[in-house]
Amino acid sequence: MRVVVFCGGVGAARLLDGIVRVVDDPTEVTAICNVSDDLQWHGLHISPDIDTVIYSLAHREGKFGWGLEGDTNVALEELRLLSGDEWFTVGDGDLATHIWRSEQLRSGATLSEVTTALATARGIKARLIPVTNDKHPTIVITENGELMFQDYFVRRHAEDSVIGFRFPGAESAQPAPGVVEAIDGADLLVIAPSNPFVSIDPLLAISSVRNAVLKSAVPCVAISPIIGGKAVKGPAADMLRSLGHETSALGVARIYNNLIDTFVIDKIDAQLTAEIERLGIDAIVLDTMMRDHKGRTRLASELLAVAIP
Ligand code: GDP
Repeated sequence: MRVVVFCGGVGAARLLDGIVRVVDDPTEVTAICNVSDDLQWHGLHISPDIDTVIYSLAHREGKFGWGLEGDTNVALEELRLLSGDEWFTVGDGDLATHIWRSEQLRSGATLSEVTTALATARGIKARLIPVTNDKHPTIVITENGELMFQDYFVRRHAEDSVIGFRFPGAESAQPAPGVVEAIDGADLLVIAPSNPFVSIDPLLAISSVRNAVLKSAVPCVAISPIIGGKAVKGPAADMLRSLGHETSALGVARIYNNLIDTFVIDKIDAQLTAEIERLGIDAIVLDTMMRDHKGRTRLASELLAVAIP
């Protein structure tokens, strides 16, 4: 089954890991990855969401879902001593990915070529594609002014109240090779449990990607990143609130309304089913909390069963 998964970071990586475990042929799974939180760090190109997906699929992710398991911070501590202002955390082992990626990009490889090479080196069978090889940053508009995404998210701890977003590269960004073809050839489209504003929207802000999703005739299913009115991690619930949406799975369903056929909500949100269905979307209630590998596989197999009966 050809499954295309639209991916942010941790939530997506967990689901994707479940999906590749339960499908017959993991090479038929394509992850379209967000690059709008990419950053330059001491001359290195870091793609946080791609790395989270790669480390999770390689079963090497750190305990919070990102970075490498058991990584150390010797280089970071030395950098702190030198610069006195280190707010982004990069582990020693993790550095290898960023050094190698940056070197390959400087030699003329595209981000999608490097991503394929990084995934292959770690034995990953699913296809990982950055949504674009072009510059496509997210700018967060806050009550304290405009901030680059990682400035908002890591340096300022997502504490600024968000009033909007800008994707200044979206108009000129071209989808990376294979993105539109994967959507066109899919049997199922899945919007992972990711932040709708800063992980999924940047993917769909590229018009040919959005159009491919809109014209696709195959089922499109999203999994709520909001459980019981709260995000499992990150600022999704705060963003829903400050942007005037309902802070619940229903609020997310309204955002995805024109894109999806089915919305998967958590069992603790079962009472929202009728209101979601009034939007014209099928609501499916599952245990969507992926606490461990078993939880990932369980959600993935239940999801595939309901999405393609
Ligand atoms: P990240 O912060 O870069 O990981 O960005 P994401 O776009 O992946 O945002 C994480 C989103 O995934 C948050 O809104 C979480 O609530 C959601 N999430 C993380 N783990 C789970 C999970 O096990 N189940 C569900 N339903 N959502 C999750």
